[in-house]
Amino acid sequence: MSRIKGKDTKPELVVRSLLHRMGFRFRVHLRRLPGCPDITLPRWKSIIFVHGCFWHRHANCRFAYTPKSRKKFWNSKFEKNTARDVAVRTLLRQSGWRVLTIWECWIKDEDALATRLKNFLC
Ligand SMILES: [Zn+2]
Repeated sequence: MSRIKGKDTKPELVVRSLLHRMGFRFRVHLRRLPGCPDITLPRWKSIIFVHGCFWHRHANCRFAYTPKSRKKFWNSKFEKNTARDVAVRTLLRQSGWRVLTIWECWIKDEDALATRLKNFLC
């Protein structure tokens, strides 16, 4: 689990510092919420997950490749991860949270990232 969802990963820190500079206040890794969301903005009733493209299978992303050996192993692992992501998002939305997923490969373009965050939160 820790390998799949590392705490305070680089992409997560980028999103957090960007949000902070934009004036948003948030909590991190709230264990009482389903999926222990990376970033929770209670005032905006919003949750942000920062997902690694490989482990969470970013659609049509070159980082979401499947290793050539042990295909079965990887595919079942990936299926479990994506199923859990969907279940977590559903649970959160059912309790009235808005949920945004930020993909690791989006981190490099900070302007575009800021726009996405603004569109989601404002
Ligand atoms: Zn990606």
